[in-house]
Amino acid sequence: MMVIMREGATEEEVAHVVARVEEAGASAHVSRGERVTVIGVIGDRELVTQLPLEALPGVERVVAILKPYKLVSREFRREDTVIDVRGSRVGGGHFALIAGPCSVETYEQVLAAAEAGKRAGATMMRGGAFKPRTSPYAFQGLGLEGLKMLAAARDATGLPVVTEVMDPRDVETVAEYADVLQVGARNTQNFLLLSELGKAGKPILLKRGPAVTVEELLMAAEYIVKEGNREVILCERGIRTFETATRNTFDVSAVPLVKMASHLPIVVDPSHSAGRSDLVLPLSLAGVAAGADGVLVETHPNPEHALCDGPQSLPTAAFAEYAERVLGLARWMGKTIG
Ligand code: PEP
Ligand code: MN
Repeated sequence: MMVIMREGATEEEVAHVVARVEEAGASAHVSRGERVTVIGVIGDRELVTQLPLEALPGVERVVAILKPYKLVSREFRREDTVIDVRGSRVGGGHFALIAGPCSVETYEQVLAAAEAGKRAGATMMRGGAFKPRTSPYAFQGLGLEGLKMLAAARDATGLPVVTEVMDPRDVETVAEYADVLQVGARNTQNFLLLSELGKAGKPILLKRGPAVTVEELLMAAEYIVKEGNREVILCERGIRTFETATRNTFDVSAVPLVKMASHLPIVVDPSHSAGRSDLVLPLSLAGVAAGADGVLVETHPNPEHALCDGPQSLPTAAFAEYAERVLGLARWMGKTIG
């Protein structure tokens, strides 16, 4: 944190700020410029932010320079975190292609999607059993039955399962069947859920909410890591802007920003970003080119009849061609698949 003094602030005013900072157990570093004096404050963030520095005489403004997150920051850990999910890796040069339906509808459906994924080189499968739907009247997912279908499709294909958990009370059950627990965009800042997931003993895929900044996303991840779970995969899935041509606006800059600020892997979700299948390939390629550690993409054997997110789902018949392009670029970017 930096305290910028007013032009013409007196030596007494500067000394007073320094005294208050030191009283609180932090240290103050005074830098006298030609016109203004700046005081750098170093110490525990909680403690420092509680100081009413802006109210002290002679103070112009206070600027926070400390990052509000620690454990997920690059400063804390320089090397990329690599997460190993049943032998399939993500992060630190390892690329994940995670494909499957928005929601689990039948065993045949989820198996068909998983098999098509496997054939085309996907490294994990996805599918929702607990669905966060905007309308309470829309299909809410198959719940426990869906989890069992996912686990059976994993047994049949060997692909690890990524699935969403919405309720802290379901964490244990979902962790029993799934390999990676997804936090949906609507729950990015559900802090009780995040803390619970910090104790789940399984990797977490944390989506960025449509109104969540990159810094807030990293703070959400900090909630999980703080509880002892260091295996968090971040996911950019589009944010809400004034643009209506796409379901959300794919914020490709989040990818390099996260990679600079954090050691955690980040994947992109072109399906929820675009909301339409014809944009899924270009957005995927953009994400990979920006340095993403993977892609989470929705596929369906028959998108026309999907109970959820059909318009943005790639037909499984078209998945091999898609995967070839995405994995080709990932390799060109120097990544190892899985
Ligand atoms: C999903 O992955 O199907 C989903 C509900 O995504 P989001 O939380 O990003 O809307
Ligand atoms: Mn979906």
